Amino acid sequence: MKNVIVLNRGKEENSLPSKMKVAYLQGPSEVSVGQEDVPEVSGKDVLIKVMAVGICGSDIHYYTHGRIGQRMVQYPHIQGHECAGVVVATGSQVTRFKVGDRVAIEPGVTCQACRWCKEGRYNLCPDVQFLSTPPVKGAFVQYLKHREDFLFPIADTLSFENATLAEPLSVGLHAVRRGGLQPGASVVISGMGPVGLMTVIAAKAFGAKEIIVSDMEPLRLEIARKLGATKTIHIATANLAEAVEKSTFGLGVDMVLETSGNVKALQSSIELTKRGGTIVVIGFPAKEEVPLNVTLMLQKEIDLCSVYRYTNTYPLAISILESLGNQVGHVITDRYAIDEIQEAMNQAANNQSGSLKVMVFPN
Ligand SMILES: [Zn+2]
Ligand SMILES: [Zn+2]
Repeated sequence: MKNVIVLNRGKEENSLPSKMKVAYLQGPSEVSVGQEDVPEVSGKDVLIKVMAVGICGSDIHYYTHGRIGQRMVQYPHIQGHECAGVVVATGSQVTRFKVGDRVAIEPGVTCQACRWCKEGRYNLCPDVQFLSTPPVKGAFVQYLKHREDFLFPIADTLSFENATLAEPLSVGLHAVRRGGLQPGASVVISGMGPVGLMTVIAAKAFGAKEIIVSDMEPLRLEIARKLGATKTIHIATANLAEAVEKSTFGLGVDMVLETSGNVKALQSSIELTKRGGTIVVIGFPAKEEVPLNVTLMLQKEIDLCSVYRYTNTYPLAISILESLGNQVGHVITDRYAIDEIQEAMNQAANNQSGSLKVMVFPN
């Protein structure tokens, strides 16, 4: 057969194509499909046939603006980091996986040696190689090489597309852990994009009793309710502060989880939080500096936490997704093949009211 080689470097043998399709980001809002060699694997690396990749808010940001803060895209770039697939080859030192295993891929591969890695806060590893964060290339490819300790087995009952949600769900889980969410707590989650919706799932899993959510888009609020929100506030027509006051007898909520990046949402979190409560900032604000009422924060002795990605969340995220079954599939609104990458990116970037998670299938 043309274009087929036999890989016999690791513990398994498998016949694979020598070339694969890759989606390149060529410039601002411009993507195209090209071809590259299928990577070879050795050592602790595993080759995964990528079955589904979710488009993330950060992908859209790099796609549109070519940068996030100081991080600039170097074109051509490969995007995508929320991914799952099947093991097709393993390096000689791989012990945890074999050909045919279905896996979710945790995108950030760390150094394992720095103080943060040793402390278990490996999301802060200065040498992390995070899929799709420039200059590291991402998962819009048919075959991806990844170190085995950042792969996690998934049940046959969990679809690949649902398994990709382990990434945004990890952000939500890390946030509720950082904030120390207790069973029975009342929370406000502002912003019902994919991360906000996954934070609803995380808060519910950690036992939050009252989950009040806010957004501008009715579709998102409707999905939030299906995922466990107890009260949904359409910001344009209803008052979040009043709703919080009513549900908490004027005390404020135990925790606000801010996922929208909206400056006003972050500022008003201080009023919504009870005395001694916690604010967890998840969404990146549109501008770097945000004025906050620090006086009020001090008087209420509010804990302010920030989260950056996540650590040690994948096994829990996967087991929650497995237990939710297809309930979580509401979040996925659009599906594209890799050849339709331009349409997929446009849909994700431009259709905020009709679209939530846009999924790309490289194979
Ligand atoms: Zn993401
Ligand atoms: Zn490290």
